[in-house]
Amino acid sequence: MSDERLEQLRAQIDGLNLELLHLLNLRAGLALQIGQRKGELGLAGFDPARESAMLDRILEQNRGPFPNGAIQSLFKEIFKASLDLMDVRHRESLLVTRRHRRQDSVVEVNGVRLGADPGVLIAGPCSVEAPEQLEEVARHLARRGVRLLRGGAFKPRTSPYSFQGLGREALSLLRQVARRHGLAVVTEIMDPRDLEVVLECADILQIGARNMYNYPLLQEVGRTRTPVLLKRGFQATLEELLLSAEHVVSQGNAQVILCERGIRTFERWTRSTLDISAVPLLKQESHLPVLVDVSHAAGRRDILLPLARAALAAGADGLMLEVHSNPAVALSDGEQQLDLPGFDRLLEGLGGSWRG
Ligand code: PEP
Ligand code: MN
Repeated sequence: MSDERLEQLRAQIDGLNLELLHLLNLRAGLALQIGQRKGELGLAGFDPARESAMLDRILEQNRGPFPNGAIQSLFKEIFKASLDLMDVRHRESLLVTRRHRRQDSVVEVNGVRLGADPGVLIAGPCSVEAPEQLEEVARHLARRGVRLLRGGAFKPRTSPYSFQGLGREALSLLRQVARRHGLAVVTEIMDPRDLEVVLECADILQIGARNMYNYPLLQEVGRTRTPVLLKRGFQATLEELLLSAEHVVSQGNAQVILCERGIRTFERWTRSTLDISAVPLLKQESHLPVLVDVSHAAGRRDILLPLARAALAAGADGLMLEVHSNPAVALSDGEQQLDLPGFDRLLEGLGGSWRG
């Protein structure tokens, strides 16, 4: 049944819908300009006082038939949609994203090109404990073709009564042993006050999971020109990891490597839960190299091979593995460190999918 009056009213509604659409997008365009200007001025995107003042003004002018409650929810939706839009634009403009740089970033250390060479390995003990221990592990790794040696000097231990690392002594051991075997050093920096001494030894500065949110530390390493291996925090979202990387890169140091190392879940059979989806998502979202530390994710050595295979199959640029000359007497993370024959078996299991 057609009714002329009804059709006229419907046509008016259709016209108003298009007008509203036009006005909403006009408004969104202005909101984006405001967001950009605020970014330039270093101001936060969300301004609750301004939002509340806008709402008050709108409600004052409301003559119905919509009640104030309905108008309020409609406008709150519009405000929220504008903020979401600003967030998307903001994320797209980050230096660490693919939108900013399409090609993969490559971090070159000791002849190894992280982000370009497939299956790069960083291996070594959890902590540097003694000259013989480090020497034995380094010699073995170098013989197998590994080029990047890890070893903790300053250890971030959950308990203040656990072994805290040998500090400066470990750094000097790392330097000597690595030099002897043609290896580059990956070691953790926990405190900006140690930066100078750590830089004398480290070819890659590791930021541990516990420090992913330590923005002053991130900015400090961002002011160096030494590559940074940034580990994901136990409870950190991928977005937060990327924003932490942005803290480094925005200070001028573009050489950042992201590292998935497992996140805390309810599962108890592993120390953390390896988040495999992090690998393709980080590779998709960011141009930075992505490594997977299977040792800290698993917290046990019996499942490292399948986890390593999964990480590489998911697109990781490389792996981090803890290797000790005698894990039974290790001063930290003894349960997850591979002994030397165990490391060889893992390499064998990986077949041709790794390189030093
Ligand atoms: C480490 O790699 O030595 C370490 C402590 O790992 P995470 O920061 O990932 O716990
Ligand atoms: Mn460890």
